[in-house]
Amino acid sequence: MTCIICQEPAVSAEPRLCQAHFTQWVEETVRETITAYELLKPDWRIAVAASGGKDSTSLLSILKKLGYHVEALAIDEGIPGYRDQTLEDLKTFTQQEGIPLRIIRVAEAYGTTIQHVAEAQRIIPCRVCGVWRRRLLERAALGEGYDALATGHNLDDEVQSLLMNLAKAQLSVLARQQPITGGDAREGFTRRVKPFILLSEKHIALYSILKRFPVHYTECPYHSLGFRHRMRIPLSYQEKKRLLLSHYRMQYATREEPLTRCRICGLPSSRSVCAACAYAKSYAGNTSQNEDNP
Ligand code: SF4
Ligand code: ZN
Repeated sequence: MTCIICQEPAVSAEPRLCQAHFTQWVEETVRETITAYELLKPDWRIAVAASGGKDSTSLLSILKKLGYHVEALAIDEGIPGYRDQTLEDLKTFTQQEGIPLRIIRVAEAYGTTIQHVAEAQRIIPCRVCGVWRRRLLERAALGEGYDALATGHNLDDEVQSLLMNLAKAQLSVLARQQPITGGDAREGFTRRVKPFILLSEKHIALYSILKRFPVHYTECPYHSLGFRHRMRIPLSYQEKKRLLLSHYRMQYATREEPLTRCRICGLPSSRSVCAACAYAKSYAGNTSQNEDNP
């Protein structure tokens, strides 16, 4: 199997390219995605939601290479044996690259752990983890005044989200699933952008291996519990891309829910108490109950 451009041995099958042309294609795809969807402006200060995994590490590296000012914003969910390792990798990478890094700890922000809340609420840890991580990133991005928050969501993540939202009939979430959310579209949030939506998980994994990023390819121990995990479908790269692009092109008849503000944290929310504060409140309630009835 040889590269369709130079006839050197190919490292990737779809598209069939050699190492040099494949890495160039990945970077060019990111540049084109940013231009096509007007994701970023050259003089912006961009926070990258970083975890030390392959996606966000590649994103930090490519955005920096394309000339953007990037800083890494990481959330430590306190998952033992997993997040400690990926954060070590992230520290190594950001030090090597001279990228500023800020780590926000769930335990400090909410005074408890996702495992405690999951047990008390009898839910899987991913539910509270996702809500809190998102909220802490939004809070930090607003507080630090970044122009945009870039996430490493790739084509596979986006197709899974599409199917999950369809399966749960979450029409307003589905209608908002676009390359840009927040910013102008929803007052009060920092603009969130996804420069990797036209690259598959395999492309990013291969890119990060070829670039020898200091990444351990481990998965969170709770990974297989989530609904998302069951939404992996065996489609080719072109088929997934077609599905996502058709979704973006569609005109949605659904209306945006009007946003109010959470009466506890003050951030925009569709409910009077946002999901992040509701989980924190449930934990506080649980603690006091335990103290009353030891
Ligand atoms: Fe959090 Fe679930 Fe992802 Fe683990 S798999 S990091 S618990 S959302
Ligand atoms: Zn080539």
